[in-house]
Amino acid sequence: MPDALPRFDGAAIWVTLSPEHQAAIGAAVLEMVAAENVNNNLRADRGELGPRYRTVSPYLDSAIACHLRDAIDAAVPDEAWESDGLPAVPSLAGPLCRECGCGERNACVTEAGPCHWFEPDLCSACVPEEAPHA
Ligand SMILES: [Zn+2]
Ligand SMILES: [Zn+2]
Repeated sequence: MPDALPRFDGAAIWVTLSPEHQAAIGAAVLEMVAAENVNNNLRADRGELGPRYRTVSPYLDSAIACHLRDAIDAAVPDEAWESDGLPAVPSLAGPLCRECGCGERNACVTEAGPCHWFEPDLCSACVPEEAPHA
């Protein structure tokens, strides 16, 4: 059986960053939410916001994403993104099956219904036939 997927622990990385890097990343994340807010309002707009918002909207996501990426690249060392040559999967994705990669939001579909946790990182759909059931 494969080892557990390597995980990226953003909180653990965050506390190692300088206050300047934290400030740059934090500001860019807030700006990204502001962009999302503009775009969400625009989707619900019935003309009240006017053409300026329609003009600026398509560029917001990519412009802010570039700022965020630059701030992160300046702060986080390349090796933080992988473990033993494999990309690290965000810890906020929650528990993941070490065999198939399923999780709380994408359970396997089996004849008995959705899979469940057999062990903390092994789902019921991936339990070998001969394994004793817990
Ligand atoms: Zn599984
Ligand atoms: Zn599963």
